[in-house]
Formats: sequence, structure tokens, C-alpha cells
Amino acid sequence: AKEPVRVLVTGAAGQIGYALVPMIARGVMLGPDQPVILHMLDIPPAAEALNGVKMELIDAAFPLLKGVVATTDVVEACTGVNIAVMVGGFPRKEGMERKDVMTKNVSIYKSQASALEKHAAANCKVLVVANPANTNALILKEFAPSIPEKNITCLTRLDHNRALGQIAEKLKVQVSDVKNAIIWGNHSSTQYPDVNHATACGKPVRELVKNDAWLNGEFITTVQQRGAAIIKARKLSSALSAASGACDHIRDWVLGTPEGTWVSMGVYSDGSYNVPAGLIYSFPVTCRNGEWTIVQGLPIDEFSRKKMDATADELSEEKALAYSCLS
Ligand code: NDP
Repeated sequence: AKEPVRVLVTGAAGQIGYALVPMIARGVMLGPDQPVILHMLDIPPAAEALNGVKMELIDAAFPLLKGVVATTDVVEACTGVNIAVMVGGFPRKEGMERKDVMTKNVSIYKSQASALEKHAAANCKVLVVANPANTNALILKEFAPSIPEKNITCLTRLDHNRALGQIAEKLKVQVSDVKNAIIWGNHSSTQYPDVNHATACGKPVRELVKNDAWLNGEFITTVQQRGAAIIKARKLSSALSAASGACDHIRDWVLGTPEGTWVSMGVYSDGSYNVPAGLIYSFPVTCRNGEWTIVQGLPIDEFSRKKMDATADELSEEKALAYSCLS
């Protein structure tokens, strides 16, 4: 039998956490033959709710779930974890300035960086979900210098999946027949969903859709603003799709992307596609043997270039703001 993998979920008593932990315990993230031990962290005001989630996990009698650690102690939560999914964060409340939210969140990620660096298992893979996800991941990376930069990523897979979903709906095909969309840049409204290299049933999406105005306009804004549309409809933010995207991200990272398929991940830029090095930026990646590689050599047209640069500019600004918040 395989040794259990320890998976940390921070903010585990929150909405996304509540959708995510049963998926992990059922094998959606790491596969149906991989036992797991869940480490759930939340803050003291959420301790009772967190304990309730632990009770439900016990009651669900998941065969793969070999243990549950539910704690408000960051050291206990981080100790020995192989995978860390960072969902905990301070939500943006009405009337709060961007800088205030940023200050709260980058301070959280700075302190959690130290705990992960000191106590996580060697080669721990980190996925940041909490917003501002790219910049939180960057802060985590910078304050955990002994964790390899290739191990620190942020979630844009939900945006990627949203793009696939919109194309599938438009073409009336199965979403599993659509692949190789790209989310470039920030997990924010400046992200650039790009279908120039995407295919549906093996044919180029642009040729099948035959509507460049839609692909360059409404398609992009629908994907960018999907989160807000869900809040409007549900009066709550997207939690099940965010949790599902987080599972997809880790599964493909650990188990590999299928042949001929790439996915979008927020990763540390090495300057590929002239994206400034040293930002956490979403790129198309393939994964093998537990490591991601940025897909190289895709032709970029002028329309795409502008959008890729605009989202890079926003990330550079966020990085500067994050540092000013920390100083
Ligand atoms: P959610 O579980 O709904 O969201 C958690 C984080 O994920 C938020 O930062 C949210 O950003 C972000 N996020 C990223 N992508 C998405 C997406 N597609 N859809 C929705 N959210 C997305 O928030 P809750 O408030 O329910 O839960 C947060 C938990 O974190 C709580 O249990 C709380 O106690 C804990 N917490 C932990 C802190 C810490 O570790 N120090 C500090 C504060 C809270 P956005 O806000 O922009 O929606």
C-alpha cells in the first residue's frame, strides 16, 4: 500500500475549504489509490467551525482518509506536509482599500512562508488560491528562500476551465473535447484568456467558432468576469469550481498532463514570452515527473501581446504595492 500524502488546506473552515476537503479525501486530487492525511488550518474565530468540518470528514468514512489534523496552530498545520493548498485569506470587504486588503494578505503569506519553510516536508508543492493569488504566491516564495521557486504556484486553472467551458457551450461540444486554451498573467480581471492555439475535437477553435469579434470581445470579458457573475447569482463566491480547479492543478502537476495537452498555472517567470522575470504569472505549462515546464515557441500576435503586457504591468504594480505594505 502507498504511504499517505499529507495535504495542508489553509482557511479550511471557509467556503472553498468546505468544498475542497471532501474532494481531496475522495481521491479527486491525488488519485483513487493514494491515501491522504488532511491538515486543516484556520484562525481561532473559525476553530469551532473547523472542528465541525473535521466531524463531517469522520462521518463521511472516506476509505482513503488516513487522518485529520484540524488546528489553529500554523506550525502543527505545516509539519510534514507534502502539498500545501493555501486558501486562507482576508476577504475584501466593502469600503476597504486595495492597499488594506493587500497589507493583511501579504503579511499572512509572509508568516506562513516561514512556517512552511521550516516545517513542511522536503519538496513540498505549494498552490496559492487566496487573493491576490499571484502576489501572495510571490511573497510566499520570497520569504521561503529554501523552498525551490518551481514548487510555488498560484491557481489560474479555474479561469482556464472557465475558458474551456465557454468554448464548449458556444460550439455545443463536450468540454473534454476542448483543450489548450491559455490564461496569461494575473488571476484578476486583467487576465488574458487566449484561444489562438486551442482546439475542439482536434480542430482550431477560431476556425470552428468563425466569430473573431466574439472571441476577442465577449468571450474574454465573460471569462474575466465570471467570478462576479457567480457572486451575483449565488450571493456567494464560486467555491465548488474553485475547489475543483485546485484539484485539477495539483493532480496534473503531480501525475502529469496528458500527451498533447497543456494547462494554465501561475508560476515563477523566467522571462519566457518576454514576461518580466520574477513575477508569478500564468503560463501554458505541461507537467511530467512532478515538474512543470512552460510551453515554448507559441506565436504571439499583436492583440495578444498587448493583453499579456497589460496583465504583467498590473502584476509589477501589485509586487511594488506588496513590498510597500510589508515595509
Ligand atoms: P473563500 O473560501 O470563499 O475564499 C478563500 C480565498 O480564496 C479568498 O481570498 C478568495 O478571494 C480566494 N479565491 C481565489 N479564487 C477564488 C474564486 N475563483 N472564487 C472564490 N474565491 C476565490 O473564503 P471564506 O471567507 O469562506 O474562507 C476563508 C477562510 O480563511 C476562513 O475560514 C477564514 O477563517 C480564513 N482566514 C484565514 C486567515 C489566516 O490564515 N490568517 C486570515 C483570514 C481568514 P476573494 O476574497 O477575492 O474572493
